[in-house]
Amino acid sequence: MFCTPGNGGTATLKGCENYPISVEDFERIKNLVQNQDISLVVVGPELPLALGITDYLQQHNIKVFGPNQAGAQLEASKAWSKAFMEDAGIPTAKAAVFTDAASAKAYIQTAPIVVKADGLAAGKGVTVATTVEMAHEAIDTIFAGEFGQDNLRVVVEDFLTGQEVSVLALTDGLTIRPLVPAQDHKQVGEGDTGPNTGGMGAYAPTPHLPPELLSRVQQSVLEPTLATLRQRGIDYRGVVYAGLMISPEGEIQVLEFNCRFGDPETQTVLALLETPLEEVLLACCEQRLEQVSLIWKSGVSVCVVLASGGYPGSYQKGKVITGIEDAEASGAIIFHAGTQLQDGQILTDGGRVLGVTAVGSTFQEAITQTYKAVNYINFEGLYYRRDIGCRVTVDG
Ligand code: ATP
Repeated sequence: MFCTPGNGGTATLKGCENYPISVEDFERIKNLVQNQDISLVVVGPELPLALGITDYLQQHNIKVFGPNQAGAQLEASKAWSKAFMEDAGIPTAKAAVFTDAASAKAYIQTAPIVVKADGLAAGKGVTVATTVEMAHEAIDTIFAGEFGQDNLRVVVEDFLTGQEVSVLALTDGLTIRPLVPAQDHKQVGEGDTGPNTGGMGAYAPTPHLPPELLSRVQQSVLEPTLATLRQRGIDYRGVVYAGLMISPEGEIQVLEFNCRFGDPETQTVLALLETPLEEVLLACCEQRLEQVSLIWKSGVSVCVVLASGGYPGSYQKGKVITGIEDAEASGAIIFHAGTQLQDGQILTDGGRVLGVTAVGSTFQEAITQTYKAVNYINFEGLYYRRDIGCRVTVDG
């Protein structure tokens, strides 16, 4: 296995080699694939997908897991994605798209309301505004170019309430199959307080999306998504990640699509997958997903994110991390995010640093196992939420 650019986890993983190539440097990635005779490229982040890495590598006869540029629009443009959902008849919040601040502001009469920058903004382009003034400020920020001068478009969307769940589905362009549903804790503070983050912890399968609701997601969201992609001539082979809001009455609405595995939900979902992942991903590329049986472990899983103090605001990097081996020895899987290997030491290298994940037969057991492993790990400024999973143990 080869990773570009990789992190401290992939640097120390047996059988894996890091190559310090930027994910935007398609040509050097292609050269690596050809020189090392690599049989499958799995694209992790959304940026290279949105920039068309799949199209580029496919032109060189390389197998890629991840949609082409046209398919990646599902995530890369919220305005495109909203129009797509309308076209496909997929339930989603009412929304309007604006290209100037004055019209966007004039549209907003009440709060709460949600203001979203159209393009990719690393999870920071969405404001759930509790007052009209806050919504206006968010609009001004977007039009001031905070998320890029080519990101001067906003989607203003009705505010929805309920349980937010994530369904990651795999598609080979012919069939689409959901993985076990997960739920994450987006806010930085305990009790789901404070600013949104990329996710502070997750668990799967969430009891808030029981099998009956999951089959409704399949019928009302996933099948129409694939059918509409096909109608538009988009050959999509990769992950369709649907962020959903489930109302107390069981009504399903799509909040967003991502075109790749999203974390920390993926850590919990894949911890439960028995079938070797590479077999499933290769089957997606070769359009034989229907023939693959997805086998799941019977338990549940929990992931707690260890972050650098200050995240999602400013934070320091380069802190020595200790205790990873002891945490692993306790039975947990330690997924690396913002880490790097330097002189034999693993250092922090980002806001979200590690995802400590454990499987148990009940949520209580998995939570206890996870936090037991977390206790072994330390670095200066370490921050994590102590209440991951509370929604399934308290009100679940
Ligand atoms: P990320 O990349 O972090 O998943 P994103 O920047 O692509 O997020 P969204 O997922 O659309 O943006 O929104 C981020 C968060 O804002 C959602 O996970 C949800 O908690 C909240 N949110 C978005 N839209 C709505 C809505 N219509 N009603 C209520 N909350 C919303």
